Amino acid sequence: MDLQHWLGRAADAIQDWADTFGPYQQHPSLHVDDGQFASVFAEFTGRLKDNYPFFHPHYGGQMLKPPHPAAVVGYLTAMLINPNNHALDGGPATAVMEREVVAQLATMFGYDTHLGHLTTSGTIANLEALFVARELHPGRGIAHSADAHYTHGRMCHVLGLTSHPVRTDSQGRMDLDALEDVLRTGQVGTVVLTTGTTGLGAVDPVHDVLPLAERYGVRIHVDAAYGGFFTLLAGAGSPEGLPPEPWRAIARADSVVVDPHKHGLQPYGCGAVLFRDPEVGRFYLHDSPYTYFTSTELHLGEISLECSRAGASAAALWLTLQLLPPTLDGLGQILAAGRRAALKWADLIEASDVLELYQPPQLDIVTYFPAVAPATLTGIDAASARVLADGMTSSDPIYLSTLKAGHEGFTA
Ligand SMILES: *Cc1c(COP(=O)(O)O)cnc(C)c1O
Repeated sequence: MDLQHWLGRAADAIQDWADTFGPYQQHPSLHVDDGQFASVFAEFTGRLKDNYPFFHPHYGGQMLKPPHPAAVVGYLTAMLINPNNHALDGGPATAVMEREVVAQLATMFGYDTHLGHLTTSGTIANLEALFVARELHPGRGIAHSADAHYTHGRMCHVLGLTSHPVRTDSQGRMDLDALEDVLRTGQVGTVVLTTGTTGLGAVDPVHDVLPLAERYGVRIHVDAAYGGFFTLLAGAGSPEGLPPEPWRAIARADSVVVDPHKHGLQPYGCGAVLFRDPEVGRFYLHDSPYTYFTSTELHLGEISLECSRAGASAAALWLTLQLLPPTLDGLGQILAAGRRAALKWADLIEASDVLELYQPPQLDIVTYFPAVAPATLTGIDAASARVLADGMTSSDPIYLSTLKAGHEGFTA
């Protein structure tokens, strides 16, 4: 895709549409002349160079993928209109696109019914899931693994819920015995399972927790902010295929969160929350004196805690999923390539004398540590910090990140 060409086409298409409303004059106070703009723009683009090359293969630091050019064109085109997906009055076209992409995500997770919407982030999406959890089980808390994203403990605090961190096993997955100990207390209303933890990419055993949840009368929320799109590789052929059980089990979880702005190739500002039971919409009920006049259909703002949201995010995701649908043959091939790269990198590390694999990648996060003699934790810390810093300044740079791991994970 030639980005320059399509951005030009985008500006033309929106101008053609705008022209149908008749000519008008901009107020002179808005006027900026091109010469003035050019000098500020030069400073602006100069300052933007102070960045990491997120788009480049040398960048391996965080769970991000560069937005697909289709997402960029979709976002910028819709942004020229600037619809607000809070209400159908704010942008009918992008509101419909949002419904369609949310339905595609629900199908990807195997939900046969759903209520859901896009959010600004995984954090807000998880907040909404925990809010509904609280409404359904007032007075009962949330259990999540000790390796779950920090947002769960934090949002429990925001919502006035008690959070119960549950020990993980040697591979960073929630320990089932420890979970059952917490469930026996009767103090938990919802268990948060993470399919792809932010640090190790560990996949909690959703399928094994479902029967426990039933026995103890608790709900299940799956935080798949990072890992969600890997469900496309569940049961696929080797080498990149994943054991299908935890992924298939998401279809029976009460809610799930996925971040299209991580592995869905979207620019930031795109998370999603889905509930299996559309009836939970009742917890969102509110009236607004300002909006909701053009339709008696449920507006997105009536089923979401956020008010204004970029319609451009829905447009970007819609355009992307038209070209790369959430199937194994579509977006799945991109996830598969990333996973093959992770597996190959892990093999190279295993064969190396200077690095040691921390654990085999469960998804596409590769964890390792520098081999130091003697093998002390302070020695590993110092060497890791050096690899991080020197990697970025090298003439053939590599951009990494570090993860703080508990000493119990180490056998070195
Ligand atoms: C990234 C992430 C979040 C937070 O999502 P944001 O979009 O960064 O707000 C929550 N949970 C998990 C598992 C994540 O990886």
